[in-house]
Amino acid sequence: MTVKDKVVVITGASSGIGEATAKLLASNGAKVVLGARREERLQTLVDEIKAAGGQATYQVTDVRDAAEVQGLVDLAQSTFGGLDVIFNNAGIMPSSPISALHVQEWNDMIDINLRGVLNGVAAVMPTFTKQKHGQIVTTSSIAGIKSFPGSGVYGATKFAVRNLMEVIRMESAQEGTNIRTATLYPAAINTELLHTITNQEAKQGMDQLYDAVGITPDAIARVVNFAIDQPAEVNVNEFTIYPTKQA
Ligand code: NDP
Repeated sequence: MTVKDKVVVITGASSGIGEATAKLLASNGAKVVLGARREERLQTLVDEIKAAGGQATYQVTDVRDAAEVQGLVDLAQSTFGGLDVIFNNAGIMPSSPISALHVQEWNDMIDINLRGVLNGVAAVMPTFTKQKHGQIVTTSSIAGIKSFPGSGVYGATKFAVRNLMEVIRMESAQEGTNIRTATLYPAAINTELLHTITNQEAKQGMDQLYDAVGITPDAIARVVNFAIDQPAEVNVNEFTIYPTKQA
């Protein structure tokens, strides 16, 4: 079983990497189930996918809320009769130096970038364990393997999901449940992510970097497609994706 006919739940599907991935997977025959908070964007995307001959549905989902994430996963099963992959992709990046004490933003990052991923994992795990088949793809960041000034808490959430995914892979191998994990470490990808930065100094630096080297989110969509497309016995678990021009 390749990408075609797989049922794939995607969080953070209303823009950027999630949107690009939804389009690519659907064009390759996957049935995509899209979640995010902005309903209009999700509705437009589902309409576009369907107009192009693909299969898609959506549900407004805030990944901070475990019940909403469970509802999105349940929608996949009730609409398409199965569940093969969850792409935990929703995230925010309000970068700032720790000394600026943007404590509310720290908490938001923990709730969305880390707790949101855990909510996704918890929502699929019973089904994946029972059916002895499933794949969890998660968007970490280059800030999940390297430290950068301004990325103290963002990086902490992204380092955390790296560990989580690797442990799920190892435990699944030990338990014989055939759950695959893939973790993505993108560098500068031109999306709406920088809109979440409120610290002006941090934003200026990021804007300059992204303007100079950023690439489109299709690059990440192709990697997700590749990971899902592998045969069941192959777990390609980590991908670092840089723009060619980024040092
Ligand atoms: P975007 O801002 O374009 O997309 C972020 C997505 O997350 C949106 O669909 C947004 O939808 C969703 N989202 C945010 N908060 C929530 C929430 N509480 N509940 C549900 N969905 C939420 O940026 P990207 O596409 O770049 O971001 C996708 C992922 O990629 C993030 O995890 C980010 O950290 C990661 N990443 C991005 C990089 C880049 O350079 N762009 C580099 C490395 C990692 P909505 O607002 O409608 O809820």
